[in-house]
Amino acid sequence: MDFSLTDDQRDIAAAVREVCAKFPGEYWRDLETTGAYPVEFVATLTRLGWLSVLIPEEYGGGGLGITEAAVVLEEIHASGGNANACHAQMYTMGALLRHGSEEQKRRYLPALAAGDLRLQAFGVTEPDAGSDSTRIATRAERHGDHYVINGQKIFISRMEHSDLMLLLARTTPVEEAGSRTGGLSLFLVDLREAGGAIETRRIPMMFNHHTYQVFITGLRVPAANLIGSEGQGFREIIDGWNAERCLIASEAIGDGRFFLDRAAAYASQRQVFGRPIGANQGVAFPLAQAYAQVQAASLLRFKATTLFDAGQSCGAEANSAKLLASQASFQAANAAMLTFGGNGFAAEYDIERKFRETKLLEIAPVNNNLVLAFLAQHVLGLPRSY
Ligand SMILES: Cc1cc2nc3c(=O)[nH]c(=O)nc-3n(C[C@H](O)[C@H](O)[C@H](O)COP(=O)(O)OP(=O)(O)OC[C@H]3O[C@@H](n4cnc5c(N)ncnc54)[C@H](O)[C@@H]3O)c2cc1C
Repeated sequence: MDFSLTDDQRDIAAAVREVCAKFPGEYWRDLETTGAYPVEFVATLTRLGWLSVLIPEEYGGGGLGITEAAVVLEEIHASGGNANACHAQMYTMGALLRHGSEEQKRRYLPALAAGDLRLQAFGVTEPDAGSDSTRIATRAERHGDHYVINGQKIFISRMEHSDLMLLLARTTPVEEAGSRTGGLSLFLVDLREAGGAIETRRIPMMFNHHTYQVFITGLRVPAANLIGSEGQGFREIIDGWNAERCLIASEAIGDGRFFLDRAAAYASQRQVFGRPIGANQGVAFPLAQAYAQVQAASLLRFKATTLFDAGQSCGAEANSAKLLASQASFQAANAAMLTFGGNGFAAEYDIERKFRETKLLEIAPVNNNLVLAFLAQHVLGLPRSY
């Protein structure tokens, strides 16, 4: 298998790099001081079509694969930016493309591709369920041609910067569902029509992220907005997990590149004891080690995306890539912090900001323990651990 980028993919990387150069560290630092959302950055990426690469051409999108989406997200992160503000449209696209009806695709995809609609909210996590999404309690009950939804979600990102939310809710009580993954359904909720039925409270986070507690009371959702089949929602989101793992890995790999570029440049020019600090193996080796880890994760990530785009199974590769890439990016972050010394803590160098940002990738949207559990059970055939 050849995992080198094609000329077209290199062109995508170069084009995204050029856009991101207009949003330097200063832009992201300014947003942090006020906790503001990167409106201009997201609008620019949307206008240029970089957030709709996965939408098929017949609906106005780029018609490209996960490999190209991975390239886009990696470049955003390698530039020092953060795709957290807008990556959900890519993360969730699989559910709509694979399980949405033709009518739903025609209604939403062209508007998403044109930037007239934003699908940036994905409502799964609940306070009492955590990583065990099969235990969610948000309830959707059918009343004629509508569902009425009640419940509570936590850490639902970008709620105030999205028009639509893909929402996982329970349509059959757990004791009647027949299996732990049954009885859950996926809805496309139009947040613009929710009125007082959805209340959000922003959660202060360790980096500039827009994530919310969400309280849902008597939300009426047309039955036409059910994605796929009632009771199959959990399986429908699982279908998107390999793509999501590939994309998270790509963000981590971009972060790793950012840390190593910045740290190598700094270690070459910063003179202490009359020579560049990078001449000391204590400084150089952690960077070289992190470089090797990032490269290894990148190769595995491209193996996963290549398999995914060829329609082949890639659970082992996508999960391993997510695990290794998130660990490699944090290793690079740590090596960069040590290289920058006191300056690593100074906001103007962007190392401390990116250090805080990249830590998330070990934990969300899926924590690495659950990735290890998947590999242990589904790849190595070990007994189920949870
Ligand atoms: C910034 C941010 C943005 C987010 N955005 C969204 C979003 O938009 N939509 C959404 O639905 N969710 C979102 N989340 C939620 C995120 O997906 C969860 O935080 C994540 O899945 C972990 O769940 P938890 O926080 O409940 O941790 P828990 O499930 O409580 O786990 C806590 C710890 O216990 C460990 N653990 C739990 N069970 C096991 C086990 N069986 N074996 C080994 N270890 C275990 C975990 O590894 C973890 O270290 C976001 C979270 C954050 C922090």
